[in-house]
Amino acid sequence: MSIKAWVATAAKQKMVLQDIDLGPLGAEDVEVAVEYCGLCHSDVSVLNNEWGISKFPAVLGHEVVGRITAAGPGTKGVKVGQRVGVGWTAASCMHCRQCMTGGHHLCVQALPTILGHRGGFASHVRCHWAWAIPVPEGLKHAEAGPLLCGGVTVFHPLDLYAKPTSRVGIVGIGGLGHMAVKFAAAYGCDVTAFTSSESKFDEARGFGAKHVVATRDGAGIKKLAGTIDLLIVTANASLDWGALIGTLAPNGRMHVVGAVPEPIPVSVFPLIFGQRSISGSPTGSPVDIAMMLEYAARHGVAPQTEHFPMSRINEAFQRLEAGKARYRIVLDADF
Ligand SMILES: [Zn+2]
Ligand SMILES: [Zn+2]
Repeated sequence: MSIKAWVATAAKQKMVLQDIDLGPLGAEDVEVAVEYCGLCHSDVSVLNNEWGISKFPAVLGHEVVGRITAAGPGTKGVKVGQRVGVGWTAASCMHCRQCMTGGHHLCVQALPTILGHRGGFASHVRCHWAWAIPVPEGLKHAEAGPLLCGGVTVFHPLDLYAKPTSRVGIVGIGGLGHMAVKFAAAYGCDVTAFTSSESKFDEARGFGAKHVVATRDGAGIKKLAGTIDLLIVTANASLDWGALIGTLAPNGRMHVVGAVPEPIPVSVFPLIFGQRSISGSPTGSPVDIAMMLEYAARHGVAPQTEHFPMSRINEAFQRLEAGKARYRIVLDADF
């Protein structure tokens, strides 16, 4: 069956609408008619081949919400007509140690939805049944797309490392960071937002941050020394790492989820004497994503979005690249 897709034919080129043939549906795969697809910074990075691993022609888009229209004979737990989400990962091997212990997102054979696989800026997208995550009733599905990649990326470290009594810092108040503030505030954490843009101070408070500090405000950051239990870095630029690590309380952790291009220089002494950690993580497993969606529905956490019809995809990419998105762009399928 032929589908319609916005195809990136080469790096840094405008995407064009094409008919493409996805071939026969795999026995364990489902096909999803796309209703909405969020625009993540990784889509821009892959379009511009910033990581050197892009494969063209590419169909980008990995924050999909839609309904299952076909399911192969080997699928489990999914049915045609069901509303599901598809995120960064479209398949994993389902038999390695990571997959068998619930760390499917760490499977070395995991297939990213937009690398060597056709993504969600299309009329239809496919994935392995395990990666088609049911969208709970009670979640506004038009706003749910950004939760599938950005949402779980910041939810997972909170799930792993935060307690309701934790003091949590979120560095970078953009697509990921604003969801992180909302998730942490809903959990009861004392949240400090770090942002490079003073224009975001009031909005960060509106998302649930108790305290807001400018990332360039060295004196303001110094005042936070030794106080933060979990600092989640969503920014993708180099920062004053020494000052940020200095905000960590003993046993504190700086957890990086933003694609910071430069190495992070670290003095071992604050780590040793304060028993502090530095770590990172990608997205999450199918169960992590499902739990995050249920949590979002239960606590009314939703990303703040701007909607574009998918036919204006190139304009939407430009807006994100210009840093103008507030805070996550969602493309509404209009084929
Ligand atoms: Zn993403
Ligand atoms: Zn595996």
